[in-house]
Amino acid sequence: MAFLQHVVTAPFARTIRFRTLTIACSAVASPSPNLKKSSPPSQVLLGMSEQELQQLAIDFGQERYRGKQLHHLLYKRKAKEMEDFSQLPLAFRNELQEAGWRIGRSPVYKSVTAADGTVKLLIKLDDNRLVETVGIPVEDNKGSVRLTACVSSQVGCPLRCSFCATGKGGFARNLKRHEIVEQVLAIEDVFQRRVTNVVFMGMGEPMLNLKEVLEAHRCLNKDVEIGQRMITISTVGVPNTMKKLASHKLQSTLAISLHAPNQKLRESIVPSAKSYPLEAIMKDCRDYFLETSRRVSFEYTLLAGVNDSVEHAVELAELLRKWGSGYHVNLIPFNPIDGSEYKRPSKKSIQAFSATLESRKVTVSVRQTRGLDASAACGQLRNQFQKSPLRPGSEDQTSELEVAVAC
Ligand code: SF4
Repeated sequence: MAFLQHVVTAPFARTIRFRTLTIACSAVASPSPNLKKSSPPSQVLLGMSEQELQQLAIDFGQERYRGKQLHHLLYKRKAKEMEDFSQLPLAFRNELQEAGWRIGRSPVYKSVTAADGTVKLLIKLDDNRLVETVGIPVEDNKGSVRLTACVSSQVGCPLRCSFCATGKGGFARNLKRHEIVEQVLAIEDVFQRRVTNVVFMGMGEPMLNLKEVLEAHRCLNKDVEIGQRMITISTVGVPNTMKKLASHKLQSTLAISLHAPNQKLRESIVPSAKSYPLEAIMKDCRDYFLETSRRVSFEYTLLAGVNDSVEHAVELAELLRKWGSGYHVNLIPFNPIDGSEYKRPSKKSIQAFSATLESRKVTVSVRQTRGLDASAACGQLRNQFQKSPLRPGSEDQTSELEVAVAC
């Protein structure tokens, strides 16, 4: 079982009799010697469960219900600073701060709104790196609005898919669970309403950061109270991870970014496919369904003249039929990015591709392209602002950079 180790800093250690607090996800546990050496202590409140927060309160000599209050303040009141914890005794707040505890919310460095209401945020993390998150409001026929947060799981991405702006921007590091959760809260702040859906389709490959992604998923589901079925984890495919994910038996959707109906073409679009052949991915998808009873869905980015012909659609339908039935394909017409050799397919070829799949009993949806004018392709906005961490005090750069976005 995963657990977190929290080490109390020296000033606080003088005021209480113990030095090390160890908080397990479901119970107090001893840290393994390895983790003790290699993991720096996490002292961030955001991302912690109610049980962990109750244990924390007790470890600080408080009543258990103070932990419940902390939980309420973090996830219902969405407090951003310790000063916002005014319901807690001042002494407790001070002790938390002296021990190095902080909430774990980061400032929004840049916000861009598209004409269709899509909002893209650049969040500035503690180490001055920027991460993208997108809020997508969609009104259905009955007038109710769904608000989807498209969250990042890494700063950048090491996989370098050929059509992806994030891949072109390189990889910096994995995100911590609170850095994933705070993206959803930031979107709620901007829209002043609850996020209804979360998709792990922003910057990064979630399966390369599975531990933190799973912890963020738990928090979003249990603490932020977003239904598991409203959460989608999207992956381009990382060997030996689907089985691990299946063992958690999540009720969320697993989406595989396929982008091609055969191995040769896929390798040319997704270089990492060389280490995870298509046949192996399809087998793992079938096993995932057998283990979880949740059928995976497939994402397919349509690139004009590359993978968008009717022949490709026929080949894709054949591939899916070979490995089961009832699969859903989400077609994503390419969102043009600067410096890309790829083009967006015509409406006619999108329709022909979609119709070919449907005629072969594959259910299809075509994703509406949102926020084209807000640099909506994953990683695009971040690439305009950052190749390396911002300098401290980089708020000064905002006005200059605003010009870049306005262009
Ligand atoms: S498409 Fe996803 S996996 Fe591929 S480079 Fe972009 S962020 Fe990484």
